[in-house]
Amino acid sequence: MKSYLPFVLAFAALLCTFSCTPKPFQEGADLIFKNGQIYTVDPDRRSVQAMALIQGRIVALGSDSSLNAFITEGTEVIDLGGKLVLPGFFDSHAHPVSATKQLYEANLYNLHGITEIQAALKAFRADHPEAKLIKGRGWSNADFPKRGPDKKDIDAVIDDIPVSLSDEGGHAKWVNSKTLELAGIDEMTIDPAGGVVERYEASREPSGALREDAAGLVADLFPYYGFEELKKGLLAYQEMALAFGMTAAHDAYLDVGIDEVPAYRSLEKENLLKMRFRAGLYVDPDQDMEQIQALIDERDADEGQLFRINSAKIFIDGVVEGSTGYLNESYDHLPDSKGKLLWDVERLNRVSAQLDQENFQIHVHAIGDGATRVMLDALEYVQSQNGIRDSRHAITHLQLVSPKDILRFHDLGVVALPQPYWFKKDSYYYNIQVPYLGLERADHEYPMASFFNAGVKVASSSDYPVTIPCNPLIAIELGMTRQEIGTRASSDVLWPEERVSLAEMIESFTINGAYADFLEAETGSLEVGKSADFILLDRNLFQIPVTEIHQVQVLATYFQGKPVFKSVRNAF
Ligand SMILES: [Zn+2]
Repeated sequence: MKSYLPFVLAFAALLCTFSCTPKPFQEGADLIFKNGQIYTVDPDRRSVQAMALIQGRIVALGSDSSLNAFITEGTEVIDLGGKLVLPGFFDSHAHPVSATKQLYEANLYNLHGITEIQAALKAFRADHPEAKLIKGRGWSNADFPKRGPDKKDIDAVIDDIPVSLSDEGGHAKWVNSKTLELAGIDEMTIDPAGGVVERYEASREPSGALREDAAGLVADLFPYYGFEELKKGLLAYQEMALAFGMTAAHDAYLDVGIDEVPAYRSLEKENLLKMRFRAGLYVDPDQDMEQIQALIDERDADEGQLFRINSAKIFIDGVVEGSTGYLNESYDHLPDSKGKLLWDVERLNRVSAQLDQENFQIHVHAIGDGATRVMLDALEYVQSQNGIRDSRHAITHLQLVSPKDILRFHDLGVVALPQPYWFKKDSYYYNIQVPYLGLERADHEYPMASFFNAGVKVASSSDYPVTIPCNPLIAIELGMTRQEIGTRASSDVLWPEERVSLAEMIESFTINGAYADFLEAETGSLEVGKSADFILLDRNLFQIPVTEIHQVQVLATYFQGKPVFKSVRNAF
């Protein structure tokens, strides 16, 4: 108790200064959680038994007996039954707003083969007989290597209205002949600068897959969602995220001028947000400096507490499955191609420097080692122009990274945002990465330990809805094993040297996520003065076999000291 008293006094004083209805700590804590194993993720990585809260903030941590002084008549005491408590999880790169699509589109996730997909489309149409168009998502590129899927396979079940189906990564659309016809895409169509219209072999006839910017050719046929639909989608996302133990997420890609940002802001005003969101606005490689003022205006229009725009999203390349990820050396299956860099380098430097100047965190999609290098060069340029400051720019995905570039993340203060869910030898590895990249590169995908070893801040993420389910406990296991759940052979491990520890995985989903969004003074660890954002798990991750971590259940999620999710199995 003694050692915490100065903090408590200081905090009580702070409350009296800043809070409109101060509650002196002498009245005791509102809530005490005791008899737990509270892994605080503080700088010493301490574990404690008990935690006391006043008005949603942590005022003391310690042993059960040390917190007795905080118990008064009005204090609720919750016995944790020896269970593990962690800070709430952060998902540092996700697309919560895309949950709207999950609500309104044909769901093709985890379906394989034409027959299953056709059956799903037929069923969706039967459920939506009035539909004038059909959108869907979730097909896997691993099932359609090279040219991608065929328009005729959709035509066979729906040929009278337009159909557009996104792949699970959101980098390609599979459309039917009706869509191509209405959009006027044919033999004469020229591929747009940042995209590919796939065509039949030895022919110019479009075969049905539109990659990257080529998807824009059909955008007018498939209008985007409105305000109410987006709000519903966000609430559905939040419910799912809280059940997975998340108390914060970074929505990496919102567009200016549509209802996405207003939907978030409206939910915050209605007090419907029960977790923190930080977000990034899309930066268009086809525009120059003239687009930046609109990003600033959108960011500064309203500074919320729970939802706030802090970053600008740059796509520097595409993806390996589309042969559009930008590589240092050519693709194995396309010896003349290194993929696609989506930005002109001089423009990238210029726009990045201005975004940095305007206090945007630059949040970058980079898949290929070439793309990451170009972006690090750009951030080096930014630093040479604007000086060294705590800017916390971030690069996500990081499928291939040249070992030479790892230390540059540290030197430039760039945060690495990997998706450990993808650290495995799955059908993507066998059907796409090995044939497209060659074994040597396929076996050196997705570094993680190297980043930690170089002192880089690493924050984990799911890229939801690219990853479904986006359950951080699955990613924690995969970050430690780097192999598909259920496989045991050592040959199934993807780049064994890059496995990391449980403590590092937890750090990457908690305090480092907070760091990536400049939130580490407020949340991300359980320390005196911070918001009480935490989760209770049914098993202690430190005491079970690694291969069982994905089965662990979140019993409860607390945000700002209030329960925002309780599992049906939760006895507390
Ligand atoms: Zn993403």
